[in-house]
Amino acid sequence: MKGQMMHYPLTTNAIIEFGNRVFPHKEIITRLPDGSRHQYSFHDMYLRSKKLAHALVHQLNIQPGDKVASFAWNHYQHIELYYAIPGAGAVCHPLNIRLSADQVEYIVNHSEDKVIFIDATLVPFFEKIAALTPLVKWFILLNAPAGFVTTLPNTIQYETLLQNAADDFEWMEMDENDACAICYTSGTTGAPKAVVYSHRSVYLHAQVLITPNAANIGMWDKVLLVVPQFHVLGWGFPFVCVMAGADMILPSCHLQPATLIELMQQEKVTLATGVPTIWMGIYEVLKNNPSLQPITLKKYMVGGSALPISLIKAFDKDFSISGIHAWGMTETSPLVTASRLQPIHDSLSKEEQYKILAKQGIELPGAEVRIILEDGSVAPKDGVTAGELQVRGAWVIDGYYKVEDNSPYFSADGWFKTGDVATMDSNRYLQITDRTKDLIKSGGEWISSVALEVALMAHTAVSEACVIAIPDERWQERPLACVVLRKDADMQAQSFRELLLKDFAHYQVPDHFIAVPQIPKTSVGKFDKKELRRMYAAGELTS
Ligand code: AMP
Repeated sequence: MKGQMMHYPLTTNAIIEFGNRVFPHKEIITRLPDGSRHQYSFHDMYLRSKKLAHALVHQLNIQPGDKVASFAWNHYQHIELYYAIPGAGAVCHPLNIRLSADQVEYIVNHSEDKVIFIDATLVPFFEKIAALTPLVKWFILLNAPAGFVTTLPNTIQYETLLQNAADDFEWMEMDENDACAICYTSGTTGAPKAVVYSHRSVYLHAQVLITPNAANIGMWDKVLLVVPQFHVLGWGFPFVCVMAGADMILPSCHLQPATLIELMQQEKVTLATGVPTIWMGIYEVLKNNPSLQPITLKKYMVGGSALPISLIKAFDKDFSISGIHAWGMTETSPLVTASRLQPIHDSLSKEEQYKILAKQGIELPGAEVRIILEDGSVAPKDGVTAGELQVRGAWVIDGYYKVEDNSPYFSADGWFKTGDVATMDSNRYLQITDRTKDLIKSGGEWISSVALEVALMAHTAVSEACVIAIPDERWQERPLACVVLRKDADMQAQSFRELLLKDFAHYQVPDHFIAVPQIPKTSVGKFDKKELRRMYAAGELTS
């Protein structure tokens, strides 16, 4: 027997219509690239998105299923693109502005983008590759001053496009399973691969992200979106905020810790998103200038890399600001797990509670995780046995775009193989211990580089630590720790070793610690271990 309920397509059109109906007065505030402040309402955003959708179809001849790209910072026009492109039946493709020219050229051609909306400040980068992306018919200039000159072909000013558009556009009719957006993985190994999100997956993911066990966002919140809109659709927050009726604060290119803090203060931000590196920077500034603390900021959402326990503790103790640590991937929209304390943790000491918060947490409804050992069995929930993390769910990839044989990426029974290595405790809290390709195998024993990094970052002399495998004649591989020392701190290898020996076996502790001025980062702010390994092999890392 079938249920007898209405068919109500879960689309981004439904999200923006809801936002305009229920929260038309809510605000989107942008610190624009030129430093000026722009403020308007969800209703204004709605009207302009409709005009933009009209322009896409009637001026730029965009057809259903065409890919329309953005090469832009986080700002209000970028939010309009998020709704107008899918609303016009096309596929929204935020390009990663931090990739190399070769990678961007590859991605634009692979995706077959028809139009690129580009920030004026980023135009010089694109001018170098525009001749190599012949399928792009139009470049639409965002935030370009009058008289802006470029060698890009076929350019139109964004505002001119809108001025010439009618405001009575009806959103395209679509199936909730139609493509809504496309994002490429950051491609630390091989060519970047594309993940195509459906309207339904975007909708369901945003609904779950709002809930108390995840970000816990409501109409009282003002959310600062530091995570770039090009990274997994800004973790879905441009949809989340409209659904939750939360004001959105967008920093565009102003991502220095001190500027973000100022923005949080001025706009009374209650929640902000960001990768750990952003939060480390913010903490450093606040520690040195406690009077700058944004008093409305109660929580920060963090993912993309492991959140060090030392940072969770420091933010909580010094500023009563709590971290919500989440795990996910481009392939999983991204949110799959989040770590929050439950009543079962009430009796634990503060220290033990921090350890729980530093884990990647438990699944949210609609997604499932499991840990598979080398023999194919499911790992025991003992918090120690590590295996490959596999996931499935309503917003998890079913196959990469234009990849014919997706079988290497999925288990025989259809779970997505994440390439992460993890443990699970008796309460199902997941802990990521490594990426399969970053694991260190020394004398036949596995060593978790992430666990070593997190422990080292708790040392007062260390601001960042990254551990890689280096070849070793006797043990095949040994861990090497690269550390960024705090200002005025000295290299204290003996003290690092003593700290690690409290939690690690002798064989797991690195033999060498190398001070580096900075850890190389990927385009989305993760430690670039491939680059560190290359530097080591090239003799560029010396103690
Ligand atoms: P991306 O697709 O660029 O978002 O990268 C996804 C990868 O980032 C995951 O497979 C993990 O290796 C890593 N990652 C994401 N969130 C976390 C987290 N909270 N802790 C540790 N690693 C994470």
